Formats: sequence, C-alpha cells, structure tokens
Amino acid sequence: MSGTLTKLLGELYRGRLRVIDLTQPLSPQTPLLPLPRQWNNTPAFKMWELSRYDDRGPAWYWNAFETGEHTGTHFDAPVHWVSGKDLPNNTVDQIPPEKFIGPACVIDVSAEAAKNPDCLLTLDHLGQWEAQHGRIPRGAWFLLRTSWSKKTNPKDYINAQSTGPHTPGFAKEASAFLAAERDVLGVGVETVGTDAGQASTFDPPFPNHYLMHGRGKFGLASLCNLDQLPPTGAVVIAAPLKIVGGSGSPLRVLAITP
Ligand code: MN
Repeated sequence: MSGTLTKLLGELYRGRLRVIDLTQPLSPQTPLLPLPRQWNNTPAFKMWELSRYDDRGPAWYWNAFETGEHTGTHFDAPVHWVSGKDLPNNTVDQIPPEKFIGPACVIDVSAEAAKNPDCLLTLDHLGQWEAQHGRIPRGAWFLLRTSWSKKTNPKDYINAQSTGPHTPGFAKEASAFLAAERDVLGVGVETVGTDAGQASTFDPPFPNHYLMHGRGKFGLASLCNLDQLPPTGAVVIAAPLKIVGGSGSPLRVLAITP
C-alpha cells in the first residue's frame, strides 16, 4: 500500500482523523421539496419488507424501496437542470468517480439564517471568507452552513408560507462566481434543495441549479453536521448511486476531518 494510504488509515485508527456523517436518515418521514402545484412533485421514500427470517425467506431479512432521486440527503447531477442537459458525462453513472472527492470549504451563515430565513450567500460573504481562509481551491465542495438541519420538525424545515417555502440559499452572483471563477465540484446545503426556498420567483428561476449545472457542477442537498467541520481542512466524499441515466440519487456523504 502507498505510504499516503497507510498514513491515512493509521490516523483514522488513532482517532487523529475523524469520519463525520453529513447524511440525514432516509425514511417515509424524510421532508420533500414542495414545488408549485403546476409541476410534478416527487414521491416520498417508501420501503416494504420482502422477508424477515420467515416463510417468505427463512434465513434472511431484506426490503425493497421506492424513492425520488431527489429525496433526503441527495446528489444533483448536471443533467438535473436544463442548462446542463447537453453536457458530456452529465448523469450520475457517467460522472468520473474522482469528481466525488474534494476538499471542503465551509461558510457559516447560521446567525443570519436564524434572523432571516430568506438570507442569501453573496459575493461579499465569499470575499470575507477568502480574506480569512484563503482562496477557495479548484475542485472543492463548497458547503453552506445555515444550521437549517437542526430543525427537526419537517414543517419548520420546509418553512412553507402562503408565499411558498422560505429557506436560505445563494445569490446568483455567488453561484456564478463559485462555478466559473473558483471551479468548485459543487455546493452543498443543509436545506431541502440547493436553491433558496423562494428561488422559483428569482431570475432565472432556481439560479443556483441553473448556473452550477450549466457548468457541469454538482449539488448536495439536506446535509447535516456541517457544524462539526472546520472552515477548511476536511475532505468530503459524496458518491451517488450508479443509476443509468440518473439525474441524482440519495447517498451517504462522509467527511474526513482533523
Ligand atoms: Mn435535487
């Protein structure tokens, strides 16, 4: 084994590196992104038992499940959006696997999100973050920490009002900068989708999806435990299921952190 991998395992065994699970539990209770009524909405996660050491299968327990690709902690592939529909390798099965691993840059806007659920990450936030922590490296996972995952009541998590959902997200200038000027792998968020709750009313609608996926970048939605990551120095591994032609998939997102 290479010295680097031996050292990695040694540091993990000794607890000098920790593995943080950035994934929410996946169940029929998992909150779903509510789209305006004129569009098709996603079904909830559903699971049923095939056998449990019984006459349906005497020595084994297993289930089948049904889910939308974009349910729970999940990956958005470039083909998910119309702006990425003609890019090469734009489906989950075709993305080169080295693009699932990258350094994490974590920006904390929890205090603002607590005061204003519609708060957006701006170029100013990015400028301040880079002044403090250095330039966002190429191929990074850029993670927006809002503490939204701490809202365990699905009603508060989705925060739907008569005007639609109200949850934090990205200003389009920030998404464009991260995709074009910093060449990130993609962005990750604690909310149900990578755009703000009100983003169906933005121009263009859902600008983070439009700009990220148009440049072949990815999205990670419904993450948690971002408060356990340093601003820089962690590595995130986010590999979706290899669904042929898939636009995304639920996945387990892991971070390795000092
Ligand atoms: Mn999605």
